[in-house]
Amino acid sequence: MIPEIKHLGAKNCVTGSCHLVQTHSGSDSGVNILVDCGKAYGHDPELAFERFPVLPRDIDYLFLTHAHIDHIGRVPDLIDAGFQGEIICTHATKVLLIPMLHDTLSFTDKSDKQVQRLEKIIDELSWGFEYNEVFALKKGINFKFGNAGHILGSCFIRFSFPRKSAGDYTVIFSGDLGCTDTPILPDPDQPDVCDLLVLESTYGDRNHTGRKNRIDALNKMLHKAMNDKGIVYIPAFSLGRTQELIYELDRIGTKIPVFIDSPLGLEITKIYSDLDSFWDKEAKALKAKGDHPIDFKNLYSVERFRDHKKLLNFKGPAIIIAGSGMCTGGRILDHLECGLDDPKNDIFFVGYQANGTLGRRIIDKKVPVKAGIHTLTGYSAHADQSLLVNWVRAMPEPPGEIRLVHGEAKARQALSGFLN
Ligand SMILES: [Zn+2]
Repeated sequence: MIPEIKHLGAKNCVTGSCHLVQTHSGSDSGVNILVDCGKAYGHDPELAFERFPVLPRDIDYLFLTHAHIDHIGRVPDLIDAGFQGEIICTHATKVLLIPMLHDTLSFTDKSDKQVQRLEKIIDELSWGFEYNEVFALKKGINFKFGNAGHILGSCFIRFSFPRKSAGDYTVIFSGDLGCTDTPILPDPDQPDVCDLLVLESTYGDRNHTGRKNRIDALNKMLHKAMNDKGIVYIPAFSLGRTQELIYELDRIGTKIPVFIDSPLGLEITKIYSDLDSFWDKEAKALKAKGDHPIDFKNLYSVERFRDHKKLLNFKGPAIIIAGSGMCTGGRILDHLECGLDDPKNDIFFVGYQANGTLGRRIIDKKVPVKAGIHTLTGYSAHADQSLLVNWVRAMPEPPGEIRLVHGEAKARQALSGFLN
């Protein structure tokens, strides 16, 4: 069987990931597999479930490449719409799933009881699997996870679909692919050969500065804050970026206080700490030496809302890390409201800012700001152009077809020039 693949979300943009894989075998209804079911941000489109080519109740499997909300955020709505299949992901993603969704659900008008019910269903439907082992689905379909090195638990997926007359037809979904030399996480695994590669292209048109450059930039920012007693605001995703920043600040040995003003960020940091079997060699070696890689003396947790309120009046120097990463909501908004008008302060953007988000509007100077604005793509959790190209070239032979998704037109165009 050669499956039909439809890109229902993040086809031409970077948020709202959702892909449908359908096999049709004669009179049989075939197998319906959904890969990710994420929320869209800013101007990115989100296809209503009524317009899906398949009813949610007819989806057999929902695969989740990782636990970022733009890949999992619509799972509760999919269940409300009738989905009752299996949710398949890695072990670490399974651990991260409920905390991440709980945070999103707490901003909806659902009652506590409804939220609890949904979380119980998600927990019952979801299963964690190992990396690099082949597992069987129905109708002879197999899948295997490779480590994508993007965040804890992130994977790329290789499906193989049996064919009567030829060998298996194989498809790889890259999910979000990470960088090499990412703090805490091992580098992405190399992909096997495949007939079709569905590849992300977020940074298909540019190359990041290396880890050394971004540590230098972070260091410079710390010195500036020390000298002018300002506050450095870092809007960061609770999952992934926050832990990477803590790791790098720990290595630098910062003298000024660092506040993690994000209950979710703190909960996820605890999960990162607990799941040390997924860390890279460097992080494991630090822990073995007695230096916990994501904990240090000047690091402060701000959990309660009243402490967050107090922090709004804090005089620098300080670093405040708070969500959301694209300034679309969360505690970072209160901080920006208090500190944007002060030239002593700085905002340090370390992640992708989608079109239409406040983060992008600040960078594009569409919002009056007196604080310094800095962007550093080197902190991205996404592979850059050369890494994407090298990852594809590492395949034993080139894929039969490559489809670029999860990128704006400019990025897809630039990347396709290197892949064809
Ligand atoms: Zn992601």
